[in-house]
Amino acid sequence: MTGKLILSIFEAMSGKVYLIGAGPGDPGLLTLRGKEILECAAVVVYDRLVSPAILGMCNPRAKMVDVGKMPTHHKVKQSEINKLLVQFAIENPSGIVARLKGGDPFVFGRGGEEALELVSAGVEFEVVPGITSAISVPAYAGIPVSHRGIATSFHIITGHEKDNAEISLDFENLAKCQGTLIFLMGIANMDFIAKRLIECGKDPKTPLAFIEKGTTPYQRTVMATLETAGETIARENVTAPAITIMGGVVELGKTLAWKKNLPLSGKRLVVTRAAKQASGISARLGALGAEVIETPMIETHTLDCPYVIPAKAGISFESLANFDILAFTSTNGVESFFKQLFAAGYDVRVLAGKKIASVGRITEKKLLEYGIRCDYVPEDHTGEGLGKLLRCILDESDLTSSLSLPKGTASTSLDESRILLLQGNLADDTLLKILPKATRWIVYETLPVTELPEWKRESVASADAVVFASTSAVENFVQAVRSQETGVGSVSGACNLKPETSFCIGRMTEASAKKYGFETVTSDETTMDSLVKKIVEYYTKEP
Ligand code: SAH
Repeated sequence: MTGKLILSIFEAMSGKVYLIGAGPGDPGLLTLRGKEILECAAVVVYDRLVSPAILGMCNPRAKMVDVGKMPTHHKVKQSEINKLLVQFAIENPSGIVARLKGGDPFVFGRGGEEALELVSAGVEFEVVPGITSAISVPAYAGIPVSHRGIATSFHIITGHEKDNAEISLDFENLAKCQGTLIFLMGIANMDFIAKRLIECGKDPKTPLAFIEKGTTPYQRTVMATLETAGETIARENVTAPAITIMGGVVELGKTLAWKKNLPLSGKRLVVTRAAKQASGISARLGALGAEVIETPMIETHTLDCPYVIPAKAGISFESLANFDILAFTSTNGVESFFKQLFAAGYDVRVLAGKKIASVGRITEKKLLEYGIRCDYVPEDHTGEGLGKLLRCILDESDLTSSLSLPKGTASTSLDESRILLLQGNLADDTLLKILPKATRWIVYETLPVTELPEWKRESVASADAVVFASTSAVENFVQAVRSQETGVGSVSGACNLKPETSFCIGRMTEASAKKYGFETVTSDETTMDSLVKKIVEYYTKEP
């Protein structure tokens, strides 16, 4: 089914609520159906366990409502969530309300309660099942929940019926059960649960695994037995979200744990690219088993007062009439331009009749989100490529218009001075060198990040390596790490920064990292492919 068709089907459904399972964490485990709905939802109501990568797939114009328990906020009560869903469905009579929940919405997800409320309010709904953590998290730890000759059934149990020790599970029957026992939400009560199971006759030597943050780069498996459950949780500091799996199948995890055998498993890597560029490399390193800490060292901001280079004068959108070709060199440029255009009270109609050029496919795709199709995209996606293409087009149009055209044929002549470049403050002069008469508007600025957020400092300092793609990333990273009062790095010394190893793209970046005392490993080519290959080689080479 094409995206367009799906959209038109959805548009026909009014005020419908979709209870969608987001899966256990790995964004690749969201269903296709779930993704399709998120892409056109008007409102997304989501929980704490939903991965940011999945939130990033939602319709960029959707109203995003976080009802999860945040460290500083109180969890929104279930009864309030139920009411909110009905309210959003009424407020969006021709739209989609996506209720996005961790795992599967009907496995300890309270999806049933939400559906009942929707039925009683007369709101249409649909359920999009998700992959439940109960079976997928063990699978990522190499533990099959059933296995011929070991377990012929598996049982999914909540370990959080009550907050106190009076948890009212049927321990007698659970202890007798020969199948695999899988406890969700049970870490806080596991000491009590294990003791009660032993009292009721379950073998104290029953193998058991706690799997923390399963399917995410932070997945960790801790093995124990029923009798050592409580002390293991305390000693290993097992924290939520985690599942507990009990039974003979757990032993298989020692042989079948595949995720930890991935080439970069157990490696913690800091990726210093800007947030929007980081996702590609982060996803690939994550797929190879690494734990990736995205730490962008620059931030881009749309300028409230965009300006013209070299005049430094403010921009008037009326002067767009003076340009025939608008050239965009980044997605930031596209987003900032439209933000400013809309804020100034205009809309895309001011672009009618203009030719639009983009440096590459990603920028082209971004323009399409605003309903704008590109006329020119160079083969090689660089500023130089774009400059040469535009120069070529100008030359061709000169040629065409200099030929004597039949009467009544419009001239196709394009003038270099009618080219407008929409760029950031750090864009280099490549395009202007090739097209010196073009005008440049600075629509966004890039600022260095000079501090690491508190929660990130420790994980950065304990990482195995840092990935640098530019000299400015090295400079900013060093400054940010040194500015902390955590004992990480030193103010004057050149070599005790942590992590010590760096993976660099380009010789300039390498030189910059060396200057600060990092051990450097540099990609053979200046591409992400080449860098990822180098990282894998580095960690898998024979000692
Ligand atoms: N509906 C969800 C479960 C919600 S209850 C599902 O089908 O998976 C929340 C509990 O699920 C957590 O306390 C934890 O026990 C488990 N859980 C969810 N995601 C997990 C993950 N990535 N790793 C380990 N346990 C997880």
